[in-house]
Amino acid sequence: MKAIDAHVHPGTKEDVIDCGGKYIEDAYRYFGQKIEVLTEEALAERFQSLDIMGVLLGWDAETNTGLKRLSNEYIARLVNRYPKTFIGFAGVDPWKGKVAIKEAEIAIKDLGLRGVKFQQAAQAFYPSDKRFYPLWEKIAELKVPVLFHMGNTGYGAGVPGGEGIRLKYCRPIPYIDDLAADFPELTIIGAHPAWPWQEEMLAVAMHKANVYMDLSGWSPKYFPASLVQYANSFLQDKCLFGSDHPYVTPQRWLTDFEKIPLKPEVKEKILLKNARKLFGI
Ligand SMILES: [Zn+2]
Repeated sequence: MKAIDAHVHPGTKEDVIDCGGKYIEDAYRYFGQKIEVLTEEALAERFQSLDIMGVLLGWDAETNTGLKRLSNEYIARLVNRYPKTFIGFAGVDPWKGKVAIKEAEIAIKDLGLRGVKFQQAAQAFYPSDKRFYPLWEKIAELKVPVLFHMGNTGYGAGVPGGEGIRLKYCRPIPYIDDLAADFPELTIIGAHPAWPWQEEMLAVAMHKANVYMDLSGWSPKYFPASLVQYANSFLQDKCLFGSDHPYVTPQRWLTDFEKIPLKPEVKEKILLKNARKLFGI
């Protein structure tokens, strides 16, 4: 295995069409391309042909968007069908309260998923909001990481009013920094370079030993110099390869990653070693 892609949306009909709803056209515009809907076989083949593993992400923003969720059962089914190619993270809607806590528990204990993913812009919540602390307590107890979307998002992009989607929920300081301070036993991954708050994300990942970042959603070709500099030095054990498939394919990300000036041993950490350690693979 050459690498582990820590940020993969399946890109199948269940994902793109059923859950994307009205937002999918925004995402196409944001990423500058229409996404080809994949069969499960084509999805697995994409990762197998590159000799990489992927972390498939569930999705549940029902309370705020009314959209269908990409169920944890569906993610678990894909993982069980291709156990050498995928591991899975659950998607949980924090506004569902006790139901969300129960779902996280079932996803990890019974379905065998390995973490929980949140998209605060779509779900409309602050990670450091004390109302959700029982959920973080449960996830910490389950000893799996949480993945939070950071920075700008394709959802609502380019539409008047952003279709009600607010970016403020995806700012690293204070929301991730506070959460990391209050839950030192919880492993937190900030997804994407967190633009326009990239420097804040770098600072939190440097300061809090329990905070990591995935570098998904952007081609490495566009990584700002400071991100490359920190990934190459202070944060070489904290950064993870992530593509944000299908919006950025792992093929494209990896090709562009080859070209950026990182030390070879750092590249190996970002592509594989850091994720192996974090996910216990
Ligand atoms: Zn994503």
